[in-house]
Amino acid sequence: MNVLFVIGTRPEAIKLAPIILECQLRGNFEVTVCSTGQHKELLDSAFEQWSIVPDIELAVMESGQGLNQLLSKLLGQLDKVMCDLRPDGVVVQGDTSSCLAGALAAFQREIPVYHVEAGLRTYNKTAPFPEELNRQLVSRIADIHFAPTEKNKQALLMEGIADQDILVTGNTVIDALMLCQKNMTPQSNPEIQKIMRILDPEKKLLLVTGHRRENMGAGFSELIEALRELASDPLVQVIYPLHMNPAVREPMMHALGNTEGIFLIEPLGYEAFIWLMSKSFLIISDSGGVQEEAPSLNKPVLVLREETERQEAVEAGTVKLIGTLREAIVQEVRELMVNKKAYLDMTQKSNPYGDGTAAKRIVDFLAASE
Ligand code: UDP
Repeated sequence: MNVLFVIGTRPEAIKLAPIILECQLRGNFEVTVCSTGQHKELLDSAFEQWSIVPDIELAVMESGQGLNQLLSKLLGQLDKVMCDLRPDGVVVQGDTSSCLAGALAAFQREIPVYHVEAGLRTYNKTAPFPEELNRQLVSRIADIHFAPTEKNKQALLMEGIADQDILVTGNTVIDALMLCQKNMTPQSNPEIQKIMRILDPEKKLLLVTGHRRENMGAGFSELIEALRELASDPLVQVIYPLHMNPAVREPMMHALGNTEGIFLIEPLGYEAFIWLMSKSFLIISDSGGVQEEAPSLNKPVLVLREETERQEAVEAGTVKLIGTLREAIVQEVRELMVNKKAYLDMTQKSNPYGDGTAAKRIVDFLAASE
């Protein structure tokens, strides 16, 4: 089977890597990896982790371009890829513009579409924006839907998708996490060594990531104030690997660049980020992937959002939605610092997103559908 993987951003690379590696292992797949370059630097670093070299590299980014320009460029360039390659199937992941364009371009060329991480929903078109609409549209297009959880499957069934076109697989990010942990070598990872030199092992480490469009502006201003307040405690240190997006990076560097107890660092490779998660006391984040990974590392996540498509983690009690108000952020962190029971309640749970065998299930399915 000749399979084309369309990948545009860091989480797509991390979450598709276990499937690509599994296909390569089996031998009866011809795999083509197409990087759209939507988040070029982050994507390259994620590919490097898995020694994946994209076969096709598109160039769709231009500074200041809007989502419509991005989507139209993606469609144009991916159409050419589909025509040249004529794959037997196209695999897309998640909810980015690259995912939507990959699915639509394949559909218009009558190529079967396989959607990994299908069925996540907030049913609020504005949060996350534009991802909620992207993934709903991809569910209208895809032929086969790989749903991470039973809840995701139920959402797809409610939208009229046939039972036989949905496979519950677990989330492939857990496969990625487990693979990475198995092969981790902190002593030979320069990023980890560098972090070890700046952190104080005696202090509680708060790990922060934030990049969602909805939080730009007011949300990030509140976060900045909250981090300043938290870092004024001499027992606390904050580390924040910044996203490459200048709309996130610049306000953070401007406001927190020289603040004692706060380390703004470059985005990390996957191994170093997983290591850093494992060393943290808690995580403050608006990231989707982090909400899925943290329960496997027994770390609580305070989510800088009002709603999430990762309800399983909220129900399991491993993540808590706290919004972006300064007061709420400070209060929730301090509560977990003093209330040991509340902390343990958030950390000693099994991960609702799977057991690290999602990629195998997906590739078994692909192999059987030849
Ligand atoms: N991640 C990483 N390096 C970092 C920050 C995050 O490798 O410096 C990983 C993280 O472990 C998770 C993924 O990137 O697997 C999440 O990506 P992001 O937050 O960009 O996207 P989202 O998950 O919100 O779609």
